[in-house]
Amino acid sequence: MAGEKLQIALYWGAACGGCDVAVLDTNEFILDVHAAADIRLWPIAVDGKYSDLEAMEDGELDLAIFDGAVRNSENEHIAKLLRQKSKVLVAFGSCAHLGGIPGLANLMPRDEIMSVAYLQNPSIEKGNVTLPRPESGMNGATLTIPEFYKRVYKLDDIVPVDYYVPGCPPAADQVKAVLLAVVTGQLPAPGSVVGAAETALCDECPRTKNEKKLTSFHRPWQIMADPEVCLLEQGVLCAGVATRGGCGARCPSSGIPCRGCYGPLPGVVDQGAKLLSAVVSVIDSNDPDEIDHILDGLPDFTGFAYRFSTPASLLQRSVRP
Ligand code: SF4
Ligand code: SF4
Repeated sequence: MAGEKLQIALYWGAACGGCDVAVLDTNEFILDVHAAADIRLWPIAVDGKYSDLEAMEDGELDLAIFDGAVRNSENEHIAKLLRQKSKVLVAFGSCAHLGGIPGLANLMPRDEIMSVAYLQNPSIEKGNVTLPRPESGMNGATLTIPEFYKRVYKLDDIVPVDYYVPGCPPAADQVKAVLLAVVTGQLPAPGSVVGAAETALCDECPRTKNEKKLTSFHRPWQIMADPEVCLLEQGVLCAGVATRGGCGARCPSSGIPCRGCYGPLPGVVDQGAKLLSAVVSVIDSNDPDEIDHILDGLPDFTGFAYRFSTPASLLQRSVRP
């Protein structure tokens, strides 16, 4: 039970596990965490039970780190429990911060997702008509599984959040910064986005910008990009101009366009709209047909521009009649 050590919990909602691996990527620093803190719940690594969490006093945890989005009733239940039991709750990684990759599912209706996964999937037994239900009866017993919600939520749609750590996944030094801030009591202002810059990723990108306009776009594999020059100005869609810096421009530095995982810039409500505005401003044409043709070089722009932020966008989800 709670003693001198810090009491912390880590939880994954709708997530791939990369954020949990990012915590382990702090290498031997994790041993300092172990020395300074009792890890009371961490489903990927520690055998804490939900019942242990439910039995805690309110505020008993000094820190809860929640990665992943909220996709189902289990995620929501644990998000509310962690809020209740924690002094500080951190939305850790793109999915908790903005909805992340799982949030792209908001572009499809729930029934279509279930149908593709459980009825049409080639690996499903032919003729299967069984869809998962929150409650089923079997041999006189009732079996329950979490309810799959109609849409994906970011964490602060469900509970108030104290701090946000962006990234897919966050860099290891951000993990250290959060843990050190809690250990030393040097917490920033509530609501802060921790471990990120206040300016655009382009400001920290080493590639040169020449204000060049474009007459075509390319997929990254379609051209041999100049390693010194801005990818967007070479016609490769890069989200750096609409993305908060802080990662050290790790993707464009490696020849890969930024996909936007650090989220929108401060004061920007809709990251995808900001990127669309930037893209349109570099197109070198005033002819509507030619512009349409140029934009044909950007397949699935919505999926790219809102890859990490669909639930946090102005529209949040697509609704089909
Ligand atoms: S658009 Fe991309 S490649 Fe160009 S400067 Fe910005 S981050 Fe770098
Ligand atoms: S360059 Fe963009 S996609 Fe890559 S880690 Fe940084 S913010 Fe994320």
